[in-house]
Amino acid sequence: MPRAEGPTAMSRGRFARFISAGAAFALAAAVFAFDTFSGYESAIAVLYALVLVLGAVAGGRLFVLAAAIVCGSLAIVSFLATHVGAIDAGNTGRLLVALVAIALTAALLLSRLSLHQTRSALADSEQNLRIMADTVPQILWQALPDGRIVYLSRRWTQMTGAPIADGLAADGLAFLDWFHPEERSTAIEQWTELIREGEPFEFYRRLRVADGSYRWLQLSASPLRAETGEIVKWAGVATDIDEEMRAQLAVRATNQTLEARVAERTAELARSERRYRSAFEQSHVAMLELDITGVAEALADARVAGNGDGTGYLMAHPEEFDRCVGALRMLDANRAAVQLFGARDREALLARKGRLMRSRTREDIDRYYALVERRETIEAEAELPVMDGRVVKVLFGVSQIAAPDGRCHALVGMVDVTARDRAQELLLAAQEELARANRAATLGALSASIAHELNQPIGAVMMDAQTAARWLERDPPDLGSAKRALARVAGNAERASGILRRTREQLVKGRRAVAPLDLGEVVRSAVALVDRELKGGRTQAEVRVAPGLPPVEADRIELQQVILNLVVNAVQAMCDTPVGERVVTIDVAGGERGVTVEIEDRGSGIDPEHINRLFDAFFTTKPGGMGIGLQICRATIESFGGTLDVRNNETAGATFSFTLPAHDGGDVR
Ligand code: ADP
Repeated sequence: MPRAEGPTAMSRGRFARFISAGAAFALAAAVFAFDTFSGYESAIAVLYALVLVLGAVAGGRLFVLAAAIVCGSLAIVSFLATHVGAIDAGNTGRLLVALVAIALTAALLLSRLSLHQTRSALADSEQNLRIMADTVPQILWQALPDGRIVYLSRRWTQMTGAPIADGLAADGLAFLDWFHPEERSTAIEQWTELIREGEPFEFYRRLRVADGSYRWLQLSASPLRAETGEIVKWAGVATDIDEEMRAQLAVRATNQTLEARVAERTAELARSERRYRSAFEQSHVAMLELDITGVAEALADARVAGNGDGTGYLMAHPEEFDRCVGALRMLDANRAAVQLFGARDREALLARKGRLMRSRTREDIDRYYALVERRETIEAEAELPVMDGRVVKVLFGVSQIAAPDGRCHALVGMVDVTARDRAQELLLAAQEELARANRAATLGALSASIAHELNQPIGAVMMDAQTAARWLERDPPDLGSAKRALARVAGNAERASGILRRTREQLVKGRRAVAPLDLGEVVRSAVALVDRELKGGRTQAEVRVAPGLPPVEADRIELQQVILNLVVNAVQAMCDTPVGERVVTIDVAGGERGVTVEIEDRGSGIDPEHINRLFDAFFTTKPGGMGIGLQICRATIESFGGTLDVRNNETAGATFSFTLPAHDGGDVR
């Protein structure tokens, strides 16, 4: 049991020293007593040398030295005490021999003790070194000049779990088997190479440790050389740097990832910048990049100066607004912008002085605030003074874009709408032209219709005038009949003049005599006017007016013309109808939508192929027809807010019907 042995060994040593010291004292005392008091001439003092030997066992060098001095002194004291007055060569010689013996013994003992001390110090230091070598957290090793390992500290076993002998096997090269398989061959090569070079070195390898995992080691070594310069051995240290190495590798990997990311991001940014640039440059929309930092500052200043109401302040201080807008810098412009501004080239445009927009309304200022402070995208129309002196109307949009160093940049897109506006104007002009042409066409049609419409009353006038003449030529003249005929003449002449008046009025922009009318009465008066046509067509007209109808609002003459047209058409449609069946029925009745007039005949009816074209201008199926009557009728009815339609009857003929909205209030004319 080593633990129990320690203290026992120690106390045993101490006991031996104690006995030796006692023996030394006893012996010294005995020799002194014998030498001094025995009176016996002898060289007993030589025995003091034994005292020294015992002293050497009991104590160290000091004890020996002290014992030598004490013993020498005792020998001299004894000599003087016993030989006073009888000193001779013999006793003096014995004293000297004793003293020499003491001195020699002391010298021998001292030198031996010193040798012993050195030895034990060496052993201690070797022991210490070994302890140190085994305690340091590194593997210490030594190798022969050719690199074969001959010593490994105990740390080897702690790390690898293998006995030291295993590491030293294979003639001192087995340790290489513990390196990572991927690095083993290069490790052997490198080891051989480094050893051959003979310089201090460091190298890094992974070593298989007790749990089977691999840990990074830093192996550093220095050659120990003899005075001749020849390498005697290698001394080295293997340090476990796994954590640091892994941390470093992780940092390196992170760095690489970071670098890759940075590179990727940079490339991406470059790509998007290129995309942006090319979109900017290639766009057909005029684009400007502006630095509006100064504007933002000036607007903020104005807000402070205006106690929060920057717009109000700038409205009151136009020079401040000018300063604010003047702080705007044009940084870039695309080709379309150069063209829009009528600039020579991009540089000329960028060097352009002066305001971008002309107006400085409250709205403009608000827009600036919206753009700069609320980062809103603003869109508006503005007049842009361009470089050749023209003013171009543009539709523009502005939004803030990312800018470096905390500056404010804005991208402006502008479309020249002058052309669009001009096109709009042209369109309006064309429309007006068209309307005029339409009017002209209508007038043409009207003139045709005048002839058409006057034809009937003038024919009637002529007939009635001839009739009146005949009545007067009679003997005796039939004055009554002549009077009635002349009254009809007057009526038809009045209608003809009405037609002419209305036409003239239409020609001078169609002022009509629109008034609330009793539609039943208008129908009756119109039917009276076509009396001649009815008779000529041997047609009966039946007028049925529902009682209590509301008035309608229209021009009397125009309405008469419509009814007249429709009745004459009905008569004409019945030319092939047996005479007894030629009846035109005119119904005037009220309904939800107003007052409706239906003119029903028993004629040919309308060919389904024609029904959609009936109201087109110049559509006619009659040999001498003009085909404008129905068109005018529909236009007239519609102009009073009504509708005019046609349908074929179930049995025979067709029914034309028109409805006019009821007029509420007002006197009926
Ligand atoms: P026009 O009488 O000069 O032909 P309108 O515009 O008055 O011109 O009529 C156009 C055409 O409509 C006529 O040619 C005829 O074919 C058809 N039409 C008009 N009224 C009737 C009707 N009551 N019955 C059958 N066809 C009709």
